[in-house]
Amino acid sequence: METYDALLESITPTSGQTRTILNPATGEAVGEAPIHDLEFLEHAVATAVETQPAWAALGHEARSAALLKAADAVERSAEELAQLLSREQGKPLNGPNARFEVGACVAWLRATAGLPLEPETIVDDGQTRAELHYKPIGVVAAIGPWNWPMMIAIWQIAPALRMGNTVVVKPSGNTPLSVLALVKVLNEELPEGILTTVSCGRDVGARLTDHPAIGKIMFTGSTAAGRAIIKSSADTVKRLTLELGGNDAGIVLPDADPKTIAEDIFWGAFLNTGQTCAALKRLYVHDDIYDAVCDELTTVAKAMPMGNGLDETNVLGPLQNKAQYDVVANLVQAAKDSGARILLGGNPDPDQPGYFYPTTLVADIDNNNPLVAEEQFGPALPIIRYSTIDEAVEKANALDVGLGASVWSSNPAAARDVATRIQAGTVWINRHGAVDPRIPFGGAKQSGYGLEFGVEGLKHLGVPQVING
Ligand code: NAD
Repeated sequence: METYDALLESITPTSGQTRTILNPATGEAVGEAPIHDLEFLEHAVATAVETQPAWAALGHEARSAALLKAADAVERSAEELAQLLSREQGKPLNGPNARFEVGACVAWLRATAGLPLEPETIVDDGQTRAELHYKPIGVVAAIGPWNWPMMIAIWQIAPALRMGNTVVVKPSGNTPLSVLALVKVLNEELPEGILTTVSCGRDVGARLTDHPAIGKIMFTGSTAAGRAIIKSSADTVKRLTLELGGNDAGIVLPDADPKTIAEDIFWGAFLNTGQTCAALKRLYVHDDIYDAVCDELTTVAKAMPMGNGLDETNVLGPLQNKAQYDVVANLVQAAKDSGARILLGGNPDPDQPGYFYPTTLVADIDNNNPLVAEEQFGPALPIIRYSTIDEAVEKANALDVGLGASVWSSNPAAARDVATRIQAGTVWINRHGAVDPRIPFGGAKQSGYGLEFGVEGLKHLGVPQVING
């Protein structure tokens, strides 16, 4: 698309029911999203069923070539997509935000196109030759959240298409325009009918989860919705990849250098203004350096400008919606009521338009406080004191979720040692939340199951078949 207006116009419905989507930073209208009904959904699924065999028959090489062309199309429209994403989601254009997210879409498409996937020879002993192949599943439903709407859609779409499946995408009702626009741009290069967006409410969207023609659901969202999807997909025994909620712990060992780690801890916790599944959501700091870490983090956090995403100076934005704003405000209030010490923030301006909650750091907070025990999904970080490593590990492992975690230390061997004791799908060392299209990513405990990214991720979008003879 040549201009932002042309992109927006290309996804604006010319008939049917619509909803006005508002910018969470200003309350201004961003655009009109269609309200697709069950009939539209059925048509999208039927089209996906019809187009799937020919797409599968193209083979890996041709499908990868199509993904590379789709990546080029996203790159050509990158600025317009980022402008729309910033207006609808609220995240700033600058910093690790809207432009970064669109860039990640391009990177993931290209990396997924390039992943090697050959049949594996499992036994070849002269008498038996057994090979493991991965065949397409059929039609995949991609159901996503509102925090990283474009990037997470690509995480679901790219491996599904690469493996010869066709895809029906259901974006979050909070951010449909971003996904409609992204899919529109991808479809400039992809064969017709293999990728369709259904922009609908949860009631209509839920049909994807029990539809007999859907073979697999790629779901990213809350643990509660994940549970509902497990139940509704049971009758048709769908394959599921569930990337659910998290409440990631970070453990700072006593030998860490507070000044060196402060900025990386800040971004680990406040990436996308804290609205990130694998953000650092509880920070455990050893007594010896507790005050120094609090001071350094406060210094870094104070210097990070928050505001309207279209202003190039900002690197933090609003909460995406009122419900999430209320979650964060209530959790910080609970922390204040308990007597915890507010190092920064905690004082939203009631007169400010938009869902802005100030960057908030909370010290001397009890491990059982709701701000620690529940997922805040916003810009408020609790910092908890500990005195022995055993105590920190026990607290980190005490919850029923386990998406990511991190250990911070000047001694990599000591950090690895602690990392192996933590119950989480990924444990980062001296970083938090860094994802990579080559490296598998998935949750432990109630943070979900199945892996995304890399060759492991591709395999989760295929049906294993053994040829034994
Ligand atoms: P959500 O679960 O409310 O909604 C996610 C999507 O699922 C939306 O599109 C929604 O319309 C749809 N949905 C909800 N119930 C459904 C049902 N029964 N059937 C079909 N579709 C249904 O989550 P959210 O509020 O959009 O996102 C925030 C949550 O997502 C947080 O808990 C966060 O940790 C999690 N998240 C996890 C990851 C990860 O990779 N693990 C990534 C991003 C967000």
